[in-house]
Amino acid sequence: MEDMLCPICGLEGKKVKIKTVKSLVKKDVRESNLYQICLNSKCKIVYFNNPESIYYSLSDLNVKVWFKDVSDENVPICYCSNLTRKEIKEAVSKGYTTIPKIRNYTGKNITGNCLTENPTGRCCHQALNKEIEKYSNKNHKSNCCS
Ligand SMILES: [Zn+2]
Repeated sequence: MEDMLCPICGLEGKKVKIKTVKSLVKKDVRESNLYQICLNSKCKIVYFNNPESIYYSLSDLNVKVWFKDVSDENVPICYCSNLTRKEIKEAVSKGYTTIPKIRNYTGKNITGNCLTENPTGRCCHQALNKEIEKYSNKNHKSNCCS
């Protein structure tokens, strides 16, 4: 069970495929099926492999990680088509509030390369919806003290 926990923040990770790690880490990656991704937005570790004492942080990757670089507007949410947070925000402000409408508006339609483009190796669908929701609710939240 300890093998599943991020060595830095101690939170549970999620399994990622070696193919994903290899395509996104700038260094040579050792073959192994024991890589996990740290999902903690405040932790700098992206991939870890505790049994083999390997870990990679944000600076070891050739992409930014949308749920860790949370304040960076140029981070892609959809990695396959490089659809960024900023573009989603803009599309939502113009009234495009569904994924197909946003893809159509931005012209960022490429999908299906998640395994090698997205740091989680998974589809961006859920993350896209979260961003859309975040910007759709912005007016309510801007009254707050932040
Ligand atoms: Zn961590």
